[in-house]
Amino acid sequence: MIAGLRSHIILHACMTHLATRLFLLWCCWSGPSFLTEIAVAGLNEDASVEQTWARLLAEAKRLQLPTKFLKTLPPDFIHFDFDDLRTYAAEYHPGEHRMVLNRSLSFNAAGRTLRPLGKMTHRELAVLYHELFHAYMDYLEAVEAPSAEAGHRSEPLLHFAREQQACRYAEVEIAPLALRKGETELRYLTQAESWEALNETWAVFIGWAVWNQLEARRKIGKSMVHEREQDNQWIGRFKTAFENGDFRGYYVPEDPDERRLAQKRYLAKPSQLTLKEAMILMKQVLGFQREFIERVQMSFGSSRTSAC
Ligand SMILES: [Zn+2]
Repeated sequence: MIAGLRSHIILHACMTHLATRLFLLWCCWSGPSFLTEIAVAGLNEDASVEQTWARLLAEAKRLQLPTKFLKTLPPDFIHFDFDDLRTYAAEYHPGEHRMVLNRSLSFNAAGRTLRPLGKMTHRELAVLYHELFHAYMDYLEAVEAPSAEAGHRSEPLLHFAREQQACRYAEVEIAPLALRKGETELRYLTQAESWEALNETWAVFIGWAVWNQLEARRKIGKSMVHEREQDNQWIGRFKTAFENGDFRGYYVPEDPDERRLAQKRYLAKPSQLTLKEAMILMKQVLGFQREFIERVQMSFGSSRTSAC
């Protein structure tokens, strides 16, 4: 379907089981005064955009959250909007590079600028990272065409994504009934559907990775002494999630008849993220250390090899 048209029909709305409606009190937090000044500086749009992005990166670093992929994005790439979202926690509109977040995620719920990351719950940070990953893929696509014209090879992650799209997401098993996960049906996806299924699956993993990093830290404690124990926690959680088939995205069917049956089709466990995809995302997007990624891989043994 034509890209422009698609954005009208398909509201690229996100978060599956990670989705939580965000219920927050509007009244009970006021930040330090310098942050208020930043919000006021929003009158000067360019300065505000630069400052907001610099602040987001600095806060993510301070909270020891992944920043590798965020550093690639130009400060003005994402247009942040805030709204009183009723159905979804957040939305990302690829063509417009627009992220719509619940108003409660804005500073003082005023709908102007992003709330400090340190004041967000773990669930909210997972939602934000899920959306930031969509923006990152959108950015890679946006720079792909001019770069290809200039004779450059596509960026490695995008190259890998295209490969996986053809190999793993063109033909998928879906779970037609949410409550009967074991029942699956085969579907052959269009280009747009398979790209969306891949993007959602990968974004689910990114949100999951961030949430579990924060949860493991909360459980074990922040000290360096406990770092290895935190890592073990994360790896244990990752294995469980994999076995449960938690890393599954969705797509909105292009066929109107199919869409009448279901607005969204969720992938089934056999079509969830592969270990290989997870490894690539850990390395190239999240910037996890090589030693840690090797430990994750070793914990699965050598039996799991992907067909792609
Ligand atoms: Zn999403």
